[in-house]
Amino acid sequence: MHKSHSIKKLLLTVIVLILANFGVVIPIHADTTNDNCNFHWHTPSVYVQSKTSSKGYNKLFDQAIRKYNQTNTITLVKTTSAGQITFSLKHILPKSPAATDNAKLLGDTILGNTHWESDGTQLTSCQIQINNRDLNQYGYTRQAKLHVIEHELGHALGLSHNSNDPKSIMYPVTKWNSKAKLARNDINNLKQLYSQPICG
Ligand SMILES: [Zn+2]
Repeated sequence: MHKSHSIKKLLLTVIVLILANFGVVIPIHADTTNDNCNFHWHTPSVYVQSKTSSKGYNKLFDQAIRKYNQTNTITLVKTTSAGQITFSLKHILPKSPAATDNAKLLGDTILGNTHWESDGTQLTSCQIQINNRDLNQYGYTRQAKLHVIEHELGHALGLSHNSNDPKSIMYPVTKWNSKAKLARNDINNLKQLYSQPICG
């Protein structure tokens, strides 16, 4: 029996904005979901690859990876080629094609950006881009940069925004130097996500 799947490529732009109100980070578009299912990777072990040579950002990326691995929920394995999740630095212009209409309307700075693709049942690749230039321009501390990276990594693993818990790393509106971190809720959400079958 032949069954042909039309590969459905879904692109999602996850955007972190900084408002004119200096220091408020708003990731506005974040769901790795279709109508009825949250996409995740086929296994909880995922290859991650850094595409930047920046020592500072690689340290932060490694720190974020360790934090996720310490949850004992998923295993992020670093690789130097063909990462399922890639990490890079990019100056993202507010009006670049990556920006959503909302971002264009607000005309704000995009600090982090996660594109994901799915074959219609599961995640097949994710690209995290971090706007290092603007993070530096707005004086983000290492901790605040780490926060942005952890948030984007959460999306790359399939987590959506968690609007109910201001302490969640996936909280959509977080203040600079926020206490938000990879919290119990996030870990539970990851566990729940990866205990589900892939989307049918
Ligand atoms: Zn987000």
